[in-house]
Amino acid sequence: PSMTRGVTKEVSKVSWDDIGGLKDLKKKLQQAVEWPIKHADAFARLGISPVRGVLLHGPPGCSKTTLAKAAANAAQASFFSLSGAELYSKYVGEGEALLRRTFQKARLAAPSVIFFDEADAIAPKRSGHAGNSSGNITVGERLLSTLLTEMDGLELATGIIVLAATNRPHAIDAALMRPGRFDLVLYVPPPDVEGRYEILKIHTRQMKLGEDVDLRQIAQCTDLFTGADLEGLCREAGMVALREDLSAASVYNRHFQTARNSLRPSLTKSIIEEY
Ligand code: ATP
Repeated sequence: PSMTRGVTKEVSKVSWDDIGGLKDLKKKLQQAVEWPIKHADAFARLGISPVRGVLLHGPPGCSKTTLAKAAANAAQASFFSLSGAELYSKYVGEGEALLRRTFQKARLAAPSVIFFDEADAIAPKRSGHAGNSSGNITVGERLLSTLLTEMDGLELATGIIVLAATNRPHAIDAALMRPGRFDLVLYVPPPDVEGRYEILKIHTRQMKLGEDVDLRQIAQCTDLFTGADLEGLCREAGMVALREDLSAASVYNRHFQTARNSLRPSLTKSIIEEY
């Protein structure tokens, strides 16, 4: 990846196959991101105006970032990534400048995907009360209005799509949901048992597994684990095997069980219910 003053442009190597579960979601993203880029002529022929922004929301560690990268990669688009929290923390004016510069670069490199992580920090709900009675425009409001201006400007550009991710969808400003902005809102749920099984398969692809390892059974006893947790579980199982014997040839079921018992899931029922 090449770093240019805070904007990371990278050619993403992640593919749809690196994401377990979420079959329907992948299909929706494919149609929203890949189709307008790869089949621009078909969209033009039918007079369909492509979605300009997709908002991904759901609990942390459940592949929002990975989905954005996979979508960009599948569309063979350049990938630009920005963190809302980082923009928010910059000196006065710098966040807006970085936003504008990123859209500029994305236009030059089109087709492009611009990915905003922690989008709620860029687009906080504008509180209709107090806090700002002096009439000062807050950092968040300035960033938001810059983002809206840039997104409205995309009308004339083709092949640029903005994907935003948030763990706090309720904190997103309604202005972002207007037509032509984030018209597609997708929930990225925590993995169910089948999803967990697929994620475990993905993250053990490179591992040498003992014959007694039953990934289906592990999927069953990892309720409330996120994709990131499961990735961590596989790594930890490998580490347990190594700690036992540095010359170990395989990772066995007992290593997974020890790892499982030492780890807690990130999610709780009440976290999931918030979405
Ligand atoms: P955050 O909201 O914290 O930024 P996120 O939803 O964007 O999290 P990612 O950063 O995409 O999540 O995922 C974190 C890690 O977990 C990734 O490195 C990925 O390998 C793994 N992971 C998460 N979900 C899956 C999945 N469905 N399949 C495979 N790996 C996954």
